[in-house]
Amino acid sequence: MAQQTEQFKDLGLDSRLLTALAHQGLDTPTDIQDQAIPVILSGHDLIASSKTGSGKTLAFLLPVLHRLMKSKALSKRDPRALILAPTRELAKQVYEQLRSLTSGTSYNIALLLGGENFNDQIKLLRRQPQLIVATPGRLANHLNERSLMLNGLELLVMDEADRMLDLGFAKELNQINDAADHRHRQTLMFSATLDHAEVNEMAERLLKAPKRIAVGAANAEHADIEKRFYLCDHLDHKQALLAHILATQPYQQAIIFTATRPDTERLATLLKGEGLSTAALSGDMSQAERNRIMDSFSRGQFKILITTDVASRGLDLLQVSLVVNFDMPKQAEEYVHRIGRTGRAGAKGVAMSLVGPNDWDAFKRVERFLQQDITFVSFDGLEGKFKGVRPVEPAKAKAAARGNGYQGKGGPNAYQPPKKKKPVKAFKDRSDRLAPGTGLGSFDGMAPLKRKKPTDETDS
Ligand code: ADP
Ligand code: MG
Repeated sequence: MAQQTEQFKDLGLDSRLLTALAHQGLDTPTDIQDQAIPVILSGHDLIASSKTGSGKTLAFLLPVLHRLMKSKALSKRDPRALILAPTRELAKQVYEQLRSLTSGTSYNIALLLGGENFNDQIKLLRRQPQLIVATPGRLANHLNERSLMLNGLELLVMDEADRMLDLGFAKELNQINDAADHRHRQTLMFSATLDHAEVNEMAERLLKAPKRIAVGAANAEHADIEKRFYLCDHLDHKQALLAHILATQPYQQAIIFTATRPDTERLATLLKGEGLSTAALSGDMSQAERNRIMDSFSRGQFKILITTDVASRGLDLLQVSLVVNFDMPKQAEEYVHRIGRTGRAGAKGVAMSLVGPNDWDAFKRVERFLQQDITFVSFDGLEGKFKGVRPVEPAKAKAAARGNGYQGKGGPNAYQPPKKKKPVKAFKDRSDRLAPGTGLGSFDGMAPLKRKKPTDETDS
């Protein structure tokens, strides 16, 4: 690990930024800040990754602001820096951090989110903000309506860049790139998970000879987050486990992730019925409602937030000490981001994941992504029957193992995949084994499952 001797003041940042940092009680940069800030100050394009909660926001905001403070604007009319984020809540959080760093300066900053009044945003743009924080869909709308030009853009930052691509914003990002295409533009990509072919393709188009910084691997163990996995039989069992967790585990605030929007409401009603202070947040609510819920959750006005992947990325809520995956996320990367809502800036957190038959494939993807052999734990009296799905062995491999001379297609020297350790130990009761996609099998007292298909949390 790189030794950290530097302080923010050693990084050559503008004194106004150092004053703002001092006001926030920050003096020592985190690893990613220590490494990324000099690279950005020297004008390079950058692809940077580091674990959740490691301070990536300041790693780009500080050098972006410094560069603006130290140079003359290319254009008086157009914004000088644009920061894009995949969800409205995250964009708002970045905007607030930007505001607090620039308080006392004359910088004019606009926040442009989907779901908010377009004409109000046009009015904001008429005041010629130097900095814009936006979700990509709404930014592209403004380009289409010509309420915004990006010819003078000097800095483009994509926070959670991979997620914007997952959500299908490639077209908008290309459009923004084309609108802001002058050769002096500096472009930065940040996320905890950037190791995708799609990200590289986009980087190829948008970035010029980028430097790369990766502080730790995306799947590296996050020492501040304790991970626990529980096998579950079906929805009723998951609900019983969740109720038990919330009744017995210590936590300040908790976030519970579900696969679908309707589930957030259903679970919130259930938990409220048990007297727990709970609210649901999902992508189909009005923006006013979403703002109200996030504001009151971040002020600690209720303890449990039930949500979907709309809140998996970036949100920095320091009181969250427990994350529960009521359902496993479809993409392994989202697991890393979801559990990263806790264990931030050195705080400790616990992440509990409920794995039922329908979660099995997603669970295996997470296990492969983390490159760990995950063992399950259970609560006394709440153990289920489901023990995982054993991988199907090809009949031929079995025959070969019996020693009947069959050597596989390629003959005796053909490649044999390395034997994997058994992922799940207990398979005693074979009648309980379920093939993937066979629903929930038979379980005493099983409740009929009435759940909609998972929906993507597309924001704009
Ligand atoms: P990431 O984007 O890497 O997930 P954030 O930028 O949201 O992380 O920062 C996580 C938390 O760490 C925030 O609460 C932030 O205020 C805090 N933080 C950032 N930089 C520092 C620092 N240098 N020293 C202490 N805390 C910091
Ligand atoms: Mg972040």
